Amino acid sequence: MKVLKFGGTSVGSVENMGNVKSIINDGDRKIVVLSAMSGTTNHLVSIAQDIKEGEVSSAQSKVKALHQTYQVTVDNLLQDSSLNHKVKTYVSEVFSLLGTCINETYSEQLENKILAQGELLSTYMFTSYLNQEGVNAKLLPALDFMKIDANKEPDQGYIRARLNTMLEEYTNAEIFITQGFICLDAANNISNLQRGGSDFTATIIGAAILAEEVQIWTDIDGMHNNDPRYVENTNPISNLSFDEAAELAYFGAKILHPQTVTPVRTDNIPVRLKNTMDPPAHGTLISSKTSEGGVKAIAAKDGITAIKIKSARMLQTHGFLKKVFEIFETYETPIDMITTSEVAVSLTIDDDRNLDKILNELEQIAKIEVDKNQSIVCLVGHSVVNDAGTYKLFQILKDVKIRMISYGGSKNNISLLIDSNDKITTLQKLNDYLFELVTL
Ligand code: ADP
Ligand code: ASP
Ligand code: MG
Repeated sequence: MKVLKFGGTSVGSVENMGNVKSIINDGDRKIVVLSAMSGTTNHLVSIAQDIKEGEVSSAQSKVKALHQTYQVTVDNLLQDSSLNHKVKTYVSEVFSLLGTCINETYSEQLENKILAQGELLSTYMFTSYLNQEGVNAKLLPALDFMKIDANKEPDQGYIRARLNTMLEEYTNAEIFITQGFICLDAANNISNLQRGGSDFTATIIGAAILAEEVQIWTDIDGMHNNDPRYVENTNPISNLSFDEAAELAYFGAKILHPQTVTPVRTDNIPVRLKNTMDPPAHGTLISSKTSEGGVKAIAAKDGITAIKIKSARMLQTHGFLKKVFEIFETYETPIDMITTSEVAVSLTIDDDRNLDKILNELEQIAKIEVDKNQSIVCLVGHSVVNDAGTYKLFQILKDVKIRMISYGGSKNNISLLIDSNDKITTLQKLNDYLFELVTL
């Protein structure tokens, strides 16, 4: 069985939902994972933000506006009057729940409940639409099987057992529809897999059912060799290894949630990236197959903070770095890049929620310098650090101020830390020269 995930744009309009129907309705049994309609999760985030800030009337008008949009969509999607009525009733229930949330005190739990409504709406509407069109589709509530543990990792044992039991229960159903992104946490509260998490849902399900393939359908023809939002003349990559895809996703290629390939790589389940707006396009196949060396793709991650920890005396004493790492560990803050010299160690984090507390503790043991608004630019390719052409990098970037460089941490990745203001020119220069559009 295959797992197919459709993102926000793919289910973002009645026309696009029609495209999704044609893609999935091929007679094969499958699980279809849907995101919220594009824009909805952002809208819900801003409602939660209003509640947090006590902006009650702003939250109310946002809920009202979104409700109206959904009523129009339901009318355009469902001509069958009894299905139209059923779905409108469901939609109204969701929006009255959102209405009651506005009067509650803000908490993370409340926000998670609000954010979950986007995927609950899209899947309910889409399943009813398929039923109207005579497709044998069954809605599988993700909250009945998708769960994360106390470390916020998928509880694969629980998920596998629950999901497979549910699939066996509905032997007659052909297409199962479920929500991406949402899950229960270890205490059974509604939670989520972080923004963009529907990709992760798809591969978690893929691993749980040992799927033949996971397909991520989106609004572009696969993983491009550079970020198409900022760079001109990017091209789709036809094949990526799991390692390459994992590095690109982790270092900012927005097309994939950072953890997408983790659940499927050990079982060698291929992941195919496809374009809902252009189904015949090849897209990108992510598998265990590796290809020739050289830089294959470039990605960038923004919102990075660099911390320089200077301590000429302490750095060479053993146990110093351990102490530094323990501080980050205490505040559950992962470190992305790290470089050391005789007198200082520089490292980067992207989660700065506990930055002040971390700095306070670091200041007890060393002198600290902090640079915010940094970006990591990451060059990825099989064995890229051993490639003969990599020397060109330093020529290409001779005018860019590089704050840190990480070379050899993994053989498939070279990472540079630069000021975010230099990101677009850096990406474009690397694109032009490394992909041989221009010669040096
Ligand atoms: P979905 O809603 O389907 O999950 P996303 O917006 O999350 O879609 O991801 C698709 C978008 O990712 C593309 O429209 C593109 O702008 C952006 N993107 C960023 N980097 C890349 C890349 N290297 N290759 C392809 N798309 C990328
Ligand atoms: N709807 C969620 C988001 O916008 C999850 C997803 O689309 O993957 O982040
Ligand atoms: Mg996405």
